[in-house]
Amino acid sequence: MARQIVIGLEVHLQLLTKTKLFCSCSAEYIGHTPNSNVCPICLAVPGTLPLLNDGAVALASRLGLGLHCTIQNYSTFGRKNYFYADLAKAYQITQYELPVATKGYLDIELGGASKRVRIHHLHLEEDAGKLVHPTADGRLTGAAYSLVDYNRGGVPLSEVVSEPDMSSPAEAKEYVMRLRQLARYLDVSDGEMESGSLRVDANISLTNADGTLGTRVEIKNMNSLKALERALEYEISRQNKVLDSGGRIVQETRLWDDAEGVTRSMRNKETASDYRYYPEMDLAPIVISDSEIEGYRQSMPELPQEKRLRFAQSFGLSGEEIAILTEQKALADYYEATVSAGAPTARAANWIRMEVLRVLNELGQDISEFRVKPDALAGLVKKIEQGDISSTIGKDLLDLMAREDLTLDEAVKRLGAPQGRLSGDALRELASRIVSSQPDVAETIKNGLDKKGGKIKFLQGLVMKEARGQADPNEVAGCLSELLGS
Ligand code: ADP
Ligand code: MG
Ligand code: ZN
Repeated sequence: MARQIVIGLEVHLQLLTKTKLFCSCSAEYIGHTPNSNVCPICLAVPGTLPLLNDGAVALASRLGLGLHCTIQNYSTFGRKNYFYADLAKAYQITQYELPVATKGYLDIELGGASKRVRIHHLHLEEDAGKLVHPTADGRLTGAAYSLVDYNRGGVPLSEVVSEPDMSSPAEAKEYVMRLRQLARYLDVSDGEMESGSLRVDANISLTNADGTLGTRVEIKNMNSLKALERALEYEISRQNKVLDSGGRIVQETRLWDDAEGVTRSMRNKETASDYRYYPEMDLAPIVISDSEIEGYRQSMPELPQEKRLRFAQSFGLSGEEIAILTEQKALADYYEATVSAGAPTARAANWIRMEVLRVLNELGQDISEFRVKPDALAGLVKKIEQGDISSTIGKDLLDLMAREDLTLDEAVKRLGAPQGRLSGDALRELASRIVSSQPDVAETIKNGLDKKGGKIKFLQGLVMKEARGQADPNEVAGCLSELLGS
């Protein structure tokens, strides 16, 4: 039997609290002067006591509910002991035996098929500080010594531990994308892998010949989805080679080296006993009543999966369109507001997907910063739908509105486009101008020599071009045959 790929992920999400998990220091650490957001508690001065931030418990509970977990009425903290310079206490406060949320699932979709990944549990823990290696010229990498910045020490994290249910790097990536999307929908974490507010430890093994689980390796240090996929691909081929040559996989932690495209052994995997976990006696257990859990449940927004289903039912969009529109909650809200403002569902979807996202990308903006508000876009889309303006002009108008903060009317004026479509006398006038500018062609048609209709089509094209597409082709044809007696 071929070896099967088995992947289980541990994902750390930085929770969006204002303050740290056990003290009132700011939880912001990026871009701050090193060691400016610290206090005796997060610096582990002897004699200080941690005080639990209820906000972090609420966020972890929301994420737990979003993952269909059971929120525990009673959970506890423990100490995970290890010595490292970025960990001032020489132990990390984490949840071990009784985590805040257990047994849930996250559905992922790949190639049109849905798969359920079980969640083992979700727990709360504090982050460690950061080591920096400055050089003489002030760059923060490459020095022979380390400095430590404790600003990140004590920042709240929620770790989501999956069961080993994924069977390809693509599934692992999809799982992380769905989890990140969920965390963002719930305002639990910004989930940025690049800045480290979402970190993935990937466990991977290949099954034994009899189908039982093989020895796993844990990979760390991937800071993008691409890196996660590459690291897993690399590890699959490495493990296959070891096994093919009759070797054994050692349980260990390996670091992904993105530049070299390889994983390297960092240390033999610690087992739980290496950490000498013991109960954190300075903190009371977390007690969450049923009514509090019910309160969290009531305050949950529509989840991404529910939104996708509803969009399919109420707007009749394709799966691909829905995936793009619901990727960010703010974009989905923007779409719904555009439709509420009267834009037809299909055309609004198409415009947001193709044009709004293009302009946002060009401007480096986020939908929340977009100057064209849903009712303005609805106005534009309606004009296009009614044939008042062509979609080519529509794109120019959208660009102007977004870049120069113009209303639709202002953009129309600026573009110098005639208001509305050309028809009736105005169109007849234009047609006659075109006919006079092409006397030879007109002559040919009048003499009945335009057998294949190519010449009349040519004139029609000129009229439409001159009208910037804002005329009804049938009416144009009517005007021309009136003028040319064809
Ligand atoms: P530890 O706490 O020592 O890291 P866990 O049993 O909590 O170990 O598992 C951690 C992660 O490893 C989980 O996400 C789990 O799904 C995954 N995992 C466990 N066994 C395997 C395996 N044989 N292959 C791949 N992943 C595994
Ligand atoms: Mg673990
Ligand atoms: Zn502090």
